[in-house]
Amino acid sequence: MAVTARREQILEEIGLGPTWRLRGRSTPVAPLVAPVAEPVAEPAVEPLVAEERVPYAARPSTAGGAAVPARDDRATRIAQLDWPELKSTVAGCTACPLCKARTNTVFGVGDEQAEWMMVGEAPGAEEDARGEPFVGQAGRLLDNMLATVGLKRGANVYIANVLKCRPPGNRNPESFEVEQCSPHLVRQIALIRPKLILALGRFAAQTLLGTDASIASLRGRLFQYQGVPLIVSYHPAYLLRTLPDKAKAWEDLCFARTTMNALKTSGVPPS
Ligand code: URA
Repeated sequence: MAVTARREQILEEIGLGPTWRLRGRSTPVAPLVAPVAEPVAEPAVEPLVAEERVPYAARPSTAGGAAVPARDDRATRIAQLDWPELKSTVAGCTACPLCKARTNTVFGVGDEQAEWMMVGEAPGAEEDARGEPFVGQAGRLLDNMLATVGLKRGANVYIANVLKCRPPGNRNPESFEVEQCSPHLVRQIALIRPKLILALGRFAAQTLLGTDASIASLRGRLFQYQGVPLIVSYHPAYLLRTLPDKAKAWEDLCFARTTMNALKTSGVPPS
């Protein structure tokens, strides 16, 4: 099947039929060359207030109301680990109560030299059972959405979560859990050094950007996390519940693809 036909088929399968193509266009836009649907801000970090820009992992601990030096020591130690050390540290982690109920830690999956990095929230039941991120229903949607822009799990793509253990009943991560776990993600990003990060959902975006801003306000803009360009989009699990926002998520992927193409050809994001 021709690439365009296959892409059309995938778009139909994920609920992006012809009526969901980018606004103002009479014919579907090929995602690989789609222009950005919203104005792109400066490539530097957006004008969030300075203290909001500090990554979550680098903030003083709020647990117990005061900075906890032991946490900083721990984050510093994690920041020096190599891949095997980081994997075994995560596998044996007992830094928060989530370790008690987990079946498996869910470290991350993919190409450790990937140019693309997807960051989600936390493992669900299937991920906990299999030890791999995004293998449930939300993961299938993610895989299909990646396919629309020519991406495939494991092929130049790395997928990880903010939390490496499943919160019971898939509840939202708590701030203490994010504080304890995010140094692992920070180290993964530092080791991979991707060309582009896609933060999927509120917890990934807020953790990496150190902001409480909504996804709606962060979408369509280019941020940087530790010098790595970062784009925010909706979480696939949210998209399963909110069909109309799938079209926006696809716009975000097109924006990400355009940004990556520009980074690879000229070394700078599109202006
Ligand atoms: N949701 C996430 O954020 N991550 C997963 O791995 C699965 C579902």
